[in-house]
Amino acid sequence: MVQRRTGFAVSWHSLSPILGIFRVQPAPGSRFPEYEAGQYIALRRDDCALTRRTIDADGRVRYVPDLDAAGVQRRGPVSHAYSISSAPYQTHQEGFLEFYVVRETDEEGRPGRLTESLFRIEPGRDDQVIYFDRIAGDFTLAKRAAGFPHVLMVASGSGLAPFVSMAKQLDFEAGESRRDGTRYTLLHGNRTAEELAYHRELEAIAAAGRIDFAYLATVSRPARSGHDPSLGQGRVSNLLRVLLGLPMKEEEDLAAAEAAGAGADSARATLAKAVRPTLPSGAPLDALRERLAPSATVLLTCGNASAMSDVQHAAEARGIRFEKEDWKPTLYP
Ligand SMILES: Cc1cc2nc3c(=O)[nH]c(=O)nc-3n(C[C@H](O)[C@H](O)[C@H](O)COP(=O)(O)OP(=O)(O)OC[C@H]3O[C@@H](n4cnc5c(N)ncnc54)[C@H](O)[C@@H]3O)c2cc1C
Repeated sequence: MVQRRTGFAVSWHSLSPILGIFRVQPAPGSRFPEYEAGQYIALRRDDCALTRRTIDADGRVRYVPDLDAAGVQRRGPVSHAYSISSAPYQTHQEGFLEFYVVRETDEEGRPGRLTESLFRIEPGRDDQVIYFDRIAGDFTLAKRAAGFPHVLMVASGSGLAPFVSMAKQLDFEAGESRRDGTRYTLLHGNRTAEELAYHRELEAIAAAGRIDFAYLATVSRPARSGHDPSLGQGRVSNLLRVLLGLPMKEEEDLAAAEAAGAGADSARATLAKAVRPTLPSGAPLDALRERLAPSATVLLTCGNASAMSDVQHAAEARGIRFEKEDWKPTLYP
C-alpha cells in the first residue's frame, strides 16, 4: 500500500504568472524513493478549492465550483501526478525533488484545483506538500529509447520536466565517465523567453560537450523588439516540421480545407496570424537534419496535448518511431 507522507516546499521560482519551478524536501529523517529520469510522483495539497461534476443543457460534462449552503466553495485535498524535473543524482546528493508546473485554467478561466493551491506556496509559511511514497512511470530512456542511436526530445511548456531530468542525469553520468554513445537533441518551446525554464542550464550542458547534445529553444510569442536571435521563433511542433522538411501545420490545414472545399477562409486567417517557424541563429540546419535520420531516431514528446498530436503527425509523416508521455488525470486515494 502506497503511503502518504508530508513534505515541504523549500523553494518556489515563478517564471511567469502561469509557470513555476519548486522543490520539495521530505520531512527530516526521510528520503524520497529511488527513481529514474522521466518518472513521476503524486503530490497533494489539502486546501484545494473543490469542484463538482455537472451536465449542462447540451449534455456536456462540466466541473463547477462545489459550494456549501452559504455559497462558499468547499476546500479539500486534491492529488495529481507530476513529472520530476530534478535529476536522480541531485536527489541523491541534496534530498529534494524538483517540479516544473503550469497553472491550469478551464475553458471559462476558472483555476485548476491543485495548481491554484501549488501557486500559493510560500516556503517557510504555506509550504506543506503531501506526496505518495512511490515514484512510477515508464517514460524513461531505458523503456522508450533503448537501441536507438539518436533520441529526439520535443517538449512544449512544462512538458520539459522529464527531459531536463534526463539531460542533467546524462551529463552528470558522462562526467563520471559513464557515456552511452547516444546522440540527443532537445527542442523546447514556450510562449516567451522568460518562460523557457532551465534554458541556461541546458545551454551549459550542450556547450560542455560531455554528451552529444543539441538543444534548440523556441518562443511562440517572440518579443516585438529585441527578440534574442539565439532563440527560435514559432511553436515547437512547427520548428520540428522545419527540421523534418514539412510545411507548417497551418499551411497543411489550409491545403486540407481547400481540398475539402470548406473552412478555407478560417484556415487562411489562422495561417496569417501564425508565427513562422525560424531556427535559432547559427543552428546548422543540414547537420541537424543529418542527426534526424528516421531509421536511427526515436522521438519522445511531452507537454500540451495539441502540440503532442501535431508532433506525432510529423513523426509519422517521416516514419520516425514516436513515443509520448500522456498527462492523463489519474485517481489517487
Ligand atoms: C504522469 C503525469 C505527469 C504530469 N506531470 C506534470 C508536470 O510535470 N507539470 C505539470 O504542470 N503538469 C503535469 N501533469 C498534469 C497534472 O497531473 C494535473 O493534471 C494538472 O496540474 C492540473 O491539475 P489541477 O488540479 O490544477 O486541475 P484540475 O482541477 O484537475 O482541472 C483539470 C481538468 O480536470 C477536470 N476536472 C475539474 N474538476 C474535476 C473533478 N472534480 N473531478 C474530475 N475532473 C475534474 C476538468 O476537465 C479540468 O479542466 C502530469 C500528469 C500526469 C498524469
